[in-house]
Amino acid sequence: MLGLMQHQELMISAIVKHAARHHPNGEIVSKTTEGAMHRYNYREFEARSRRMVRVLQGLGVGWQDRVATLAWNGYRHMELYYAVSGMGAIIHTINPRLSVPDIAYIVNHAEDVLVFSDTTFAPLIGAAAPHFGKHVRGVVIMCDRANMPAVKLPDGMPLYCYEDLMDATDDTYIWPEFDERTAATLCYTSGTTGRPKGVLYSHRSTLLHAFSGGMADVMGLRASDRVLPVVPMFHVNAWGIPYGALMAGATLVMPGRFLDGANMTALMNDEKVTMSAGVPTVWLGLLQHLQKSGDRLGSMQRLMVGGSACPRMLYEGFDAYGVRIYQGWGMTEMSPVGTYNAPKPIHDGLSLDEEYKVRIKQGRALFGVDMKIVDDNGAELPWDGLKSGHLSVKGPWVTNAYYGDEPGSALDADGWFATGDVAAIDPEGYLEITDRSKDVIKSGGEWISSIQLENIAVGHPDVAEAAIIAATHEKWAERPLLLVVPKQGHTIDKASVLAIFDGQVATWWKPDDVVVIDELPHSATGKIQKLALRDKYKNYLLDK
Ligand code: AMP
Repeated sequence: MLGLMQHQELMISAIVKHAARHHPNGEIVSKTTEGAMHRYNYREFEARSRRMVRVLQGLGVGWQDRVATLAWNGYRHMELYYAVSGMGAIIHTINPRLSVPDIAYIVNHAEDVLVFSDTTFAPLIGAAAPHFGKHVRGVVIMCDRANMPAVKLPDGMPLYCYEDLMDATDDTYIWPEFDERTAATLCYTSGTTGRPKGVLYSHRSTLLHAFSGGMADVMGLRASDRVLPVVPMFHVNAWGIPYGALMAGATLVMPGRFLDGANMTALMNDEKVTMSAGVPTVWLGLLQHLQKSGDRLGSMQRLMVGGSACPRMLYEGFDAYGVRIYQGWGMTEMSPVGTYNAPKPIHDGLSLDEEYKVRIKQGRALFGVDMKIVDDNGAELPWDGLKSGHLSVKGPWVTNAYYGDEPGSALDADGWFATGDVAAIDPEGYLEITDRSKDVIKSGGEWISSIQLENIAVGHPDVAEAAIIAATHEKWAERPLLLVVPKQGHTIDKASVLAIFDGQVATWWKPDDVVVIDELPHSATGKIQKLALRDKYKNYLLDK
């Protein structure tokens, strides 16, 4: 017997309809590319999103067509999020920090029919467009007529102005309902090896992820929140905030291209932001600004950090400003959030030091996600917080295949997705990522966690950034080698940097040597490119 409840497909358009009807005065506040502030409420936003559907229809966008964006976090990007998915097409957000060949590759792989771009990326479009295939029917610059840049496109590829198109149509569109498993958004992984791969999210997976991400022990989003996603809308849908905030009726504050510490502090204070989310480097920049300028954060309550491991000094740094850091872990392949670190009753009464040791872990699984760690032979490992293994995940917002591949082809026979991360899980279910599988250091047959060592190294007062790589060693096969970038105006004393590990890790974990370099290579999503570093330094200890 089936239950006697109403059936409604889980539609992305239902979120914007809800926000307009039940939170009409919730706002989207955006710092525009031109620098001025733009603000409107959810009712106006919903009407403009419907108007954008009319624009897309006028440009020939049809069912399940891919529509690309190269854009900052802002209101026009939000309109595209809802218009494209809402009409049954697929929004493909592109990371503008990728190289021109990679951008052209993914536009062609996705067979995008239109590309929307912020004015900032007009030169990038000019460089990439000659390499676009015939499926690209035009480029739309996301601005008004007065700010239209000159962009040279190949013959036969028209250039449009966003606001001209909006002015020339109406908002009489009515959101349709269709199968919730229909594809809604597409995001390519940054691909440290090989070509980027597409992850194709559905309406259903997006809504379930947003429901779960909004729970009290995750982002805890409320109508009274004013949320500033620093994490870009081109990096796994800004971790689901463009959906979760509207579900909750929270106001969104969009920073556009102004992501430095001074601009962010001003925007957070002017707009009374209560919650924000971003990668550790962003928070490091903000903390340094606060420490240097003496500025405070007046309304900020909590920061979500993810994308890379968060060192203890960031927790301590922001605690001093009354702002609490919460770490999450995830990946493009899982929409992206898989775990979030919030305390359990068992953590009551911990000493400050013990509390930090728990907080710096990546957290426990969201409802909907299951995880396990296995050894090299695939046997499941116990959750003792000590043994590290290869991490696999399952759940309704985890991919089963990359875009263009056979459905199910990314899973093993039991339906698990291998993340490529190495982790330990403690008896309370808290995940601690120790490495990427490709980056583990195997010294005399035992694993050493590069992430744990890096977290300690950046706690040194002269170190701005640190990377640990596996260097080849005659006796132990591999040993940790520490590469450090000094803080501006500081010099590195190797002995003093090595001394910081004493008492914090087993003696055999201590790096064998320190190499001081000017800069570490980063991927388009801000991750340290260890492969490039290993190529360069893997023989460092042998050559000494
Ligand atoms: P991306 O698909 O670009 O979001 O990258 C996903 C990868 O980033 C994961 O597989 C992890 O290796 C890493 N990652 C994400 N969040 C964290 C975190 N909190 N701590 C350590 N690594 C993380």
